[in-house]
Amino acid sequence: MTPDKKVKILATLGPATRGIDDIRELVQAGVNIFRLNFSHGDHADHAQRYQWIREVEQQLNYPLGILMDLQGPKLRVGRFADGKVLLQRGQALRLDLDPTPGDQRRVNLPHPEIIAALEPGMDLLLDDGKLRLRVTARHSDAIDTEVLNGGELSDRKGVNVPQAVLDLSPLTAKDRRDLSFGLELGVDWVALSFVQRPEDIREARALIGNKAFLMAKIEKPSAVTQLREIAELSDAIMVARGDLGVEVPAESVPQIQKNIIGTCRALGKPVVVATQMLESMRFSPAPTRAEVTDVANAVAEGADAVMLSAETASGDYPLEAVQMMSKIIRQVENGPDYQAQLDVSRPKAEATVSDAISCAIRRISSILPVAVLVNYSESGSSSLRAARERPTVPILNLTPNLQAARRLTVAWGVHSVVNDRLKQVDEVCSTALEIAQAQGMAQRGDTLVITAGVPFGQPGSTNSLRIETLI
Ligand code: PGA
Ligand code: MN
Repeated sequence: MTPDKKVKILATLGPATRGIDDIRELVQAGVNIFRLNFSHGDHADHAQRYQWIREVEQQLNYPLGILMDLQGPKLRVGRFADGKVLLQRGQALRLDLDPTPGDQRRVNLPHPEIIAALEPGMDLLLDDGKLRLRVTARHSDAIDTEVLNGGELSDRKGVNVPQAVLDLSPLTAKDRRDLSFGLELGVDWVALSFVQRPEDIREARALIGNKAFLMAKIEKPSAVTQLREIAELSDAIMVARGDLGVEVPAESVPQIQKNIIGTCRALGKPVVVATQMLESMRFSPAPTRAEVTDVANAVAEGADAVMLSAETASGDYPLEAVQMMSKIIRQVENGPDYQAQLDVSRPKAEATVSDAISCAIRRISSILPVAVLVNYSESGSSSLRAARERPTVPILNLTPNLQAARRLTVAWGVHSVVNDRLKQVDEVCSTALEIAQAQGMAQRGDTLVITAGVPFGQPGSTNSLRIETLI
């Protein structure tokens, strides 16, 4: 598979994917990394999808990332007898601790700590803020509310209570069970929901160790305030606009998105823009113009990846959504301003050998018509530093380490090829030329820049740069 875009696509899997062929099509349409959303589905569903992805990865010989997304302390209503109800403005709705399926008058809210924290006059926002309820009375095991903004409410929709302060750990008992299941399965990435403080990341890291990489979802006001420290402790960041736009005023989300992208680029941490990107494509084969513009703007702002949620998980047009996203990405990347815009917002290099080499590559490719940068990297770290520079040339990351290749599926402009032979050869150049050609990334007569650490096998030791022509 020859990469045809630099910005990556993270696609959520769910019931819309029925088998391995569906996964292969999604990958061929541009998906680089899949999200298993542990807010939905059971372990058997996730294990099945996990196997399908790994099988496609083998078939296509193309590294694919798998991200398990922990639900975190996300509050949700229970289920309804008919799967959903239509709530009218002004009507009463009780939320209680009774797990029996709900109806027009009551529904389960299986969170005693929330019921305890709510006071009359406080608002609950449901389903990404689409519905608003105001608390009218609190009882020991229930709250009564009045519907301020009505609409359809279906099973297990999210609940946000921005006015209440909840003393919750970022990992619930369910998260801990899910996490050990996911790590056992072998996921590459773990996403942590509703991160509030840097300590949350440390707590998760202690549990995960080096079994997987850690992505912090920014969807709480306190995470926005402490973004830099959270990003420093994480391997990647997700701008989780769904809950974020409920927890903070929706109109402040665009600026927050810009700031998060800027901070992550400065730190060289991959950043994913998520949620509602092509929302209308759940039920329509074509997106709205506003959605297209939103995806294009995220790309132009320098995001590493953009995400699809329900569009691919449960929508009617999962493949079309990925195809559309790829088209938008390519259009922006090939546009006249993309590179110039990235250059203007380019973070300063740090005083490291890796950054010095990355800067040199930029300079070289502005003088010579470089087709591809081939970087030999065991851990993938130096390829991430190269991506931080947002060079015009694609980055081919050669690694003996499949885990490193899967880690980089979320990173801007990095295409990885796993090659075991590289453990032995001390002349990386001929292999680099051969692989670049085989991957369709370079042709005869092309100039390649090859970087590596010598001697081999020491992570973070990138120290040499060669320029070669493919003959
Ligand atoms: P979710 O996270 O889909 O798991 O809620 C993304 C978001 O909140 O935007
Ligand atoms: Mn969320």
